[in-house]
Amino acid sequence: MKYYSTKDKGLRVGLKEAVLSGMPSDGGLYMPEYIPLLSGEELRRIEKGTLPEIAVTVLQDYVSEDLSVNELEEIVLSAFNFPIPLKEIDENKAVLELFHGPTLAFKDVGARFMSRLMSKLITNDKSGLNIIVATSGDTGSAVANGFYDIEGIRVFILFPSGKVSTLQKKQMTTLGKNIIPLEISGTFDDCQKIVKNALNDKILNSQHRLTTANSINIARLLPQSVYYFKGYYDALKLNDYDEQIIFCVPSGNFGNLCAGLLAKKMGLNIRHFIAATNVNDVVPEYLRSGTFKARKSVQTLSNAMDVGNPSNFERIVDLYDGLYEKTTAEITGFAFSDTETKTQISTTLRQSEYLLDPHGAVGLLALEKYMKDRKGTLYGVSLETAHPSKFIETVEGVIGNAVSIPQRLSDCLNKEEHQILMENDYEKIREFLYEKMI
Ligand SMILES: *Cc1c(COP(=O)(O)O)cnc(C)c1O
Repeated sequence: MKYYSTKDKGLRVGLKEAVLSGMPSDGGLYMPEYIPLLSGEELRRIEKGTLPEIAVTVLQDYVSEDLSVNELEEIVLSAFNFPIPLKEIDENKAVLELFHGPTLAFKDVGARFMSRLMSKLITNDKSGLNIIVATSGDTGSAVANGFYDIEGIRVFILFPSGKVSTLQKKQMTTLGKNIIPLEISGTFDDCQKIVKNALNDKILNSQHRLTTANSINIARLLPQSVYYFKGYYDALKLNDYDEQIIFCVPSGNFGNLCAGLLAKKMGLNIRHFIAATNVNDVVPEYLRSGTFKARKSVQTLSNAMDVGNPSNFERIVDLYDGLYEKTTAEITGFAFSDTETKTQISTTLRQSEYLLDPHGAVGLLALEKYMKDRKGTLYGVSLETAHPSKFIETVEGVIGNAVSIPQRLSDCLNKEEHQILMENDYEKIREFLYEKMI
């Protein structure tokens, strides 16, 4: 499998270059040159498989030129080492819980797979690898955790000052060792811009290897297709809804949704996708009007989705050859306010005894809105992307009760933070990076 740039389909690179460079020098994003179509037999194997077994079948063709099946198996056994259960909310809806990994958010899937893949890909290389990442909260903790203490790799994590939760900050800043957190006085979009600048910076890249671990890295995206297969067949086991299963994806940079679209193109019979956002709704707006217009992001309660210029939109355009009708035939978008998000958290707790986090609440809102007019015909799976305790201030405020924090999260609360404060000034940050890179 080769990977092309969304800006130049003639440019083809192998997996190692696509993953280690993060993004092509023309500023596009890497995409697989074709999307493997799974056979009936492979789909039956997936239906009966464990999560790591599903992962091997789904990911094999994407990596087979660079890794043996045994190496892939080793990676996915270690990356998918937590369950992804489907929980029914009512007779025609369920949530797929993606938050059972070490940092309690779905980004653990991509981060764990990518770190292990990168470490395999550089096994025989002499020089080290630097990773730079912008985060609005969850990416940072997942990446920090995924790469922690991996030899030969140093990680720089940029997060917007004052815009991530206390717990998210603790998770990113208390590890130490090869993880260097930078607190930037700016927005998430500013952090993302710095990352793009650094990756395209000739001076920084001339002496050292620098790459990213944002959802723009294809190594983060591909493993996320795996849980769509798992969720689909689990939904099928609960109900007789073949041909009728839809997925709703709470979205920010749209990597998660993109992975679902790939799963469908691989042969998974998902009937429709719903893109759910908070008021940062440039994609729902595009799906409604046909016009894509990036804007400055606005802060909301579902802050991991506060993105004004979603990077993976380019991949969605690529998947549908830029054809608006083709895109809207498969994806419907909805956006919701913080007030609606809070109401949904309390309604779902009352009616279904299920506690959502703010991102999952946006997802369920969208799923219910879509299904309201289509009663009795569909089965909806909404992705629950984070554990409610990751957003404890918001959730406790809404339900008026204490939310218990899983041990793996509370463990880091008493540790010391190591972040370095920096202005939103690329020249200064570049100087710092230049000094610290390995
Ligand atoms: C990152 C994140 C999202 C958004 O995912 P994208 O792939 O960027 O669309 C949603 N919910 C949570 C909890 C997240 O951390």
